[in-house]
Amino acid sequence: MDTSRCINLKPHHFIDILGDVGRGRTNWHPVPGYRHALHSIARSLMENRDVRIRMEVGIDDICEPCVHHVGETCNDARGHPFPGQPSGKMEWNLMLDRGWCSLLGLKQGQELTARDFCGLVARAVSLAALKQIYPGQPVELTQKRYEDLLAGLDIFCGGTGQHGAR
Ligand code: SF4
Repeated sequence: MDTSRCINLKPHHFIDILGDVGRGRTNWHPVPGYRHALHSIARSLMENRDVRIRMEVGIDDICEPCVHHVGETCNDARGHPFPGQPSGKMEWNLMLDRGWCSLLGLKQGQELTARDFCGLVARAVSLAALKQIYPGQPVELTQKRYEDLLAGLDIFCGGTGQHGAR
């Protein structure tokens, strides 16, 4: 195991991975049309809860090999934005990552372990917070995101019971 490794990570990408874990979808594979590194980064996080991560609101290590990583940006469009939401993935993602950083008290470039990141999420997350970070989403989708995230945190943190539905 490379203990010196530090993963550049968009906070919402980690949140998405935790949601996958909560849904029991941990068999990540490369996505042919994208070629991003979600599968390998997710496995690295699952293999070592104490791996260091660095907050990155722009292009992170998942985006790095992606076909939509062009220059310093993502040129992909969102499939089905809800009314009032940005249609560009870069703009939407920036909104999400800034929202998560603000909720968790983290800054661009800040380093911490994956475990500590999850501890911050477990203490700060609520349904109301998710509604703010993901504006315009139907409430049932936000509720499901919240439940999956809590379940993923329980598994990732080893069922420490640090949080409860709020
Ligand atoms: S945010 Fe854009 S560049 Fe990053 S993985 Fe997704 S599609 Fe690729």
